[in-house]
Amino acid sequence: MIINKSLFLSHVDVRGPDECWLWELACDKNGYGLFTVRIKGQWRKRNSHRVAYIIANGTISNRVCVLHTCDNPPCCNPNHLFKGTHQDNMLDRDRKGRSGSAKLREADVREIFTLYNMGNWTYEELRVRYGLFNEESIGRIIRRKTWRHVPI
Ligand SMILES: [Zn+2]
Repeated sequence: MIINKSLFLSHVDVRGPDECWLWELACDKNGYGLFTVRIKGQWRKRNSHRVAYIIANGTISNRVCVLHTCDNPPCCNPNHLFKGTHQDNMLDRDRKGRSGSAKLREADVREIFTLYNMGNWTYEELRVRYGLFNEESIGRIIRRKTWRHVPI
């Protein structure tokens, strides 16, 4: 697999070693980032957290999954990534009680309002930042359809 590392890193919001480093471009339906790499002469899309793991640790088998300790699909911080089998992936999801959609905390919801009210964040940008399924989830928060109990 040929990875353009500087291009890859230019799309990651690199922060402190313990923080989540969010992917800034397109994500798949589960909120995982997508990046194009070259495999045997062909352009292929791969999940960005997987690419981040490979850049940090070297090549891994196709049968191996890369999982998040932070449960934040768009996160590309290698310190938050670990290797597991597909079965580990399923168990991990069960244990965390989720299947693809990120969990927000109240602090995130307040931050979403702050950023949105500053006027320079779109629903899509907010969705990517918080690793959510779709823009509609942001719209529902802004219109106070969900998370209504959180004071803003
Ligand atoms: Zn993370």
